[in-house]
Amino acid sequence: MTSTPEPPRATTSSEPRRAGFATRAVHTGQEPDALVVAVVPPPYLTSTFVHDGVGNVRGGFDYGRSGNPTRAALEQALADLEGGERGFAFSSGMSAEDTLVRAVLRPGDHVVLPDDVYGGTYRLLVTVLREWGIDVDFAAVDSAESVAGALRPGRTRLVWLETPSNPTLRIADVAAVAALARDAGALLVVDNTFASPYLQNPLALGAHAVVHSTTKYVGGHSDVSGGAVVVPADVRLPGGRVGPGGTPLLGDAIAHLQNAAGSGASPFDAWLTHRGLKTLPLRMERHCSNALVVARHLEERPEVREVLYPGLPSHPGHQLAARQMRGFGGMVSVRLANDEAALAFCAATRLFALAVSLGGVESLIEYPARMTHLSAAGSPVSPLADLVRLSVGVEDPEDLVADLDQALDTVP
Ligand code: PLP
Repeated sequence: MTSTPEPPRATTSSEPRRAGFATRAVHTGQEPDALVVAVVPPPYLTSTFVHDGVGNVRGGFDYGRSGNPTRAALEQALADLEGGERGFAFSSGMSAEDTLVRAVLRPGDHVVLPDDVYGGTYRLLVTVLREWGIDVDFAAVDSAESVAGALRPGRTRLVWLETPSNPTLRIADVAAVAALARDAGALLVVDNTFASPYLQNPLALGAHAVVHSTTKYVGGHSDVSGGAVVVPADVRLPGGRVGPGGTPLLGDAIAHLQNAAGSGASPFDAWLTHRGLKTLPLRMERHCSNALVVARHLEERPEVREVLYPGLPSHPGHQLAARQMRGFGGMVSVRLANDEAALAFCAATRLFALAVSLGGVESLIEYPARMTHLSAAGSPVSPLADLVRLSVGVEDPEDLVADLDQALDTVP
């Protein structure tokens, strides 16, 4: 299930062979630099570029906010690995989301959000953009009927999915929801943070845009914040609109806003994120195998009422995940007896650090209702009080299981 996504293909002499995912993760955008032929191109830590003459800039770079070769290299690699043509790197996942939604939406538009959406996305759409005339309804991510029921054809311009969702790890049928969105005149955006481009490519399933918090698996080491949007070259803004860049293309609207609002990734952050990206396939393999060990073990513990992990055959989305993903990911959520038990579990782990975020090499534990999803407290998307979320790292699986066991032993 978690084998390399694109194994070498046999080729004919007339067809150049496309390198596999792991090779492209290491090499795309990383041609040795021209000056001293360094294997790793150094970060261009500059805010501006000398012009050869008025109106004559080299490589298209004139000012750091507008573009930088280090950021461009990351954007190229992300676009390649997601199977899109245009990539955009931002200072955080939320700035990527903000740029994307403002590129698409206009006052009076309607958005369908998952009922299990990341708390920060909820906060942006509901507490910020509602003030700008955006209406939001919620749908169950794992039910195409629920999404269909929430659509308002002609008014819905964006359908948002997370799959696996955060924090209950439900699986959405990307191809089915993409068709519904298209028929209603809306764009489908998939937040691919939990899967990473290694495990899932939503554009190939019909999504119009992919968004990432690269702070998570793409960066992979919990040492840099970032975000990304990847789109195909030909996706148009909904409703026949012309975007702020003066064309109907979604990519042009995002490029215009990235420069206009100044939310692009800094050169050093882009460099660190690209450094992490190179080992994404290796890390994801280990995240997936460790998460399966952890999920299977937790199923045996009497303190755990339910294990939510799409890699378990008991998960309602298991078959769908097996079809549309190349592995089941490193996130595992569990339900305990009640909030008291969940909080006691979170307080007792030693190796699993109590921290928000996910996707780094180190294992983390958190209590969504009062940590990652606090901004959705009391709303229709408020997480269950008995739920604990684990980001399973790449440590030795025996040590992870031992830590979870000793912590569960303390649960009342
Ligand atoms: N999307 C998901 C699924 C997330 O979990 C997060 C952050 O936790 C974000 C987006 C936002 O990313 P960032 O924290 O990099 O702004």
